[in-house]
Amino acid sequence: MYAMTVSAIAEVVGGRLVDALDPEALVTQPAVFDSREAVEGSLFLALKGEHTDGHAFAEAAVNKGATVALVTQPVGVPAIVVDDVLAAFGRLGRALINGVFGRAQVVAITGSAGKTSTKDFIAQVLPGNVVATPQSFNNEIGLPLTITMADTTTNFMVLEMGARHIGDIRDLTRIAQPDISVVTNVGTAHLGEFGSRENIAQAKGEIVEAVPRGGLAVLNADDDLVREMQNRTKGRVATYGLSEHAMVRAVDITTDDQGRASYILTTPEGSAPVQLQLIGDVQVPNSLAAAVVGREVGLTVDEIAARLSVAQPRSKWRMETHIRADGVTIVNDAYNANPTAMRHSLDALASMTRGRDQRSVAVLGHMNELGPDTRTAHEEIGRYAAELGLEQIILVGGEEAGWIEQGVRAAGGKAVHLPDQETALDLLQNTLRSGDVVLVKGSRGVQLQELADQLLQPN
Ligand code: ATP
Ligand code: MG
Repeated sequence: MYAMTVSAIAEVVGGRLVDALDPEALVTQPAVFDSREAVEGSLFLALKGEHTDGHAFAEAAVNKGATVALVTQPVGVPAIVVDDVLAAFGRLGRALINGVFGRAQVVAITGSAGKTSTKDFIAQVLPGNVVATPQSFNNEIGLPLTITMADTTTNFMVLEMGARHIGDIRDLTRIAQPDISVVTNVGTAHLGEFGSRENIAQAKGEIVEAVPRGGLAVLNADDDLVREMQNRTKGRVATYGLSEHAMVRAVDITTDDQGRASYILTTPEGSAPVQLQLIGDVQVPNSLAAAVVGREVGLTVDEIAARLSVAQPRSKWRMETHIRADGVTIVNDAYNANPTAMRHSLDALASMTRGRDQRSVAVLGHMNELGPDTRTAHEEIGRYAAELGLEQIILVGGEEAGWIEQGVRAAGGKAVHLPDQETALDLLQNTLRSGDVVLVKGSRGVQLQELADQLLQPN
């Protein structure tokens, strides 16, 4: 982070400095909200969670070297007192991005699925010093937090933005106004909270409304509701996708036996072959979005294709693939799940074994936040898995997992429904053999990454 005195921070956030011996003390490190992560020069945010109140940890943070804490009431250590810590932190983020980091271009990404993958591609395509959202820190805490990771040498900030309500993205774009905004798709993630796909589009589209004249809206041409967002921006529009009318396209897509896609990147300036390192055909559109951003900042088609072809997965538990000593492949995709993502991951699993003498095994948990459609959505996933002809389908957990099983059976397939991870682990350890590919996927709350980890432990 750019060095800032505590008095300057107090001024920017509109707070009152208390218990500070030295108003000129410098904050030099990114903000933290976990006192254990505080280091010399940190800014500590005293946030209130469901179970804990960060105010109780301000002293610990300062003992670890934090210069100052952002708080709503004095805590006996150097602090800036404000009415609302999150709102104040947003003001700091906005001040940094409009002031000291003003030279950096801001690229913002939203969508129902593929935000993180797209963000990671963009961060690896852009030249110069890039600061990108760590993992999926895409809310009103994560966004300013990412901004405090920049410094005066930063050329690009690549910021993932998440939305649970109408207005969320608008608030985030008030902190960091994008020069380039990307929308990946409008799916059914968080359908329960939004009510309809149209409402989701309404919320996600706020990201292109924030693009100024001269900026660029990057839209997925293969998604009808994303395409319609072209009418909601003052900026220019560029589209990507597989369809013929997209400006930047992937043609001749093939998938290798590791599930990695290759294609010919086709742009108005020419074309070049791309071979992705990330697994799953879903990564094709995600990489195309990054190609559009690369093109916008002046990279050639060859440069873009070369960078996309070496881009690595950066985030954990997303199609994270390990081959065990005994030749069993474990694909840990347990980060999260919604119907769209489930289908794509099942497709990737099928393509990893298709035409080979290998068995595909899907170990699935339930999907959260689907509202009134929960039951049908689970049954449909079961049906889909059965129709892909996977060798084994194992459902882990309670009632919802049972609905997936019913879907499998309705489509004439077979599945095993087990109550918990332990019984699933037992069954798998006793039946897996060399060549098998095992996909492990479920919503965050199901914590199936634990099962995936167990599967990687030596027996
Ligand atoms: P979150 O909201 O949890 O932060 P995200 O939008 O950042 O999710 P990713 O983490 O990139 O999304 O991908 C999550 C899952 O969504 C992947 O495992 C994959 O199965 C699926 N996915 C990724 N990209 C796409 C895409 N372009 N279209 C549909 N599904 C996708
Ligand atoms: Mg994400």
